[in-house]
Parts: sequence; structure tokens; C-alpha cells
Amino acid sequence: MTDCIFCKIVNGEIPGDRVYEDDRVIAINDINPQAPVHILILPKSHIKSVMEIDSDNEDILSHIFKVACRLAAEKGIDRKGFRIVNNCGEEGGQTVDHLHFHLLGGRFMEWPPG
Ligand code: 5GP
Ligand code: ZN
Repeated sequence: MTDCIFCKIVNGEIPGDRVYEDDRVIAINDINPQAPVHILILPKSHIKSVMEIDSDNEDILSHIFKVACRLAAEKGIDRKGFRIVNNCGEEGGQTVDHLHFHLLGGRFMEWPPG
């Protein structure tokens, strides 16, 4: 999608601090980190939100979670714990309309979220 900031990062039009890449996803450090580890994992194809997940593309979700857990182990936050967050839609706090999951860790996470 031409005006999508995450599509632009995927195709290299704008820089992204990549920490992982394969044929289906990339992971980048968040530009405005909310925790010592704050990584975004996103599909290379433009999927607007979890509401666009269907039987044709649902495999991407398990893949994203697998990558997130692998990154958590690499970053050393797997033992103490971490949080994986998806914001969906305006009231859910989604500000970039390209599906992504936040991997947050390295500090104690409050509950409930704000
Ligand atoms: P959302 O609010 O949609 O769940 O999350 C969007 C996230 O993308 C935010 O945490 C924001 O800091 C991050 N973000 C926005 N623009 C950029 C960018 O250009 N590069 C990177 N690495 N992160 C971005
Ligand atoms: Zn996109």
C-alpha cells in the first residue's frame, strides 16, 4: 500500500531498525520505545488489522508469535516475562493501520493497561 508507513519500511523506502526478517515478516525496534525492549513484528504484506485475518492468512498469526518468542529469548526477557500486544482500531489505540504486534519487556508490566 503506497501511503502506509510500515509498507514503506518493509520495501526499504524509509529506514527501519530491523532486528529480524524472513520471507513473511519483519521485526523492527519501535521508534518511541515504551520499555527497554520494544519490538514491532509485522507481516510484509499489507493487512490492516486483526479484523482482516481470515482462513487464507491466519497462519501469519502463529508465525508472528513464534518470531516474537524467539526474539524474547534472544533479548533475554523470556525468563522474567514479557507482553505481546495488539491494538486494533481507534479505541484499541491502533495508530498505524498495518497489522503489527508489540513485544514489550525488560520492566514490570502494569495491569490493567491504560
Ligand atoms: P499502534 O499504536 O498502532 O499499536 O503502534 C504503532 C507503533 O509504531 C507505535 O508504538 C509507534 O511508536 C511506532 N512507529 C510509528 N512510526 C514508526 C516508524 O516510522 N518507525 C518505527 N520503528 N516505529 C514507528
Ligand atoms: Zn502497509
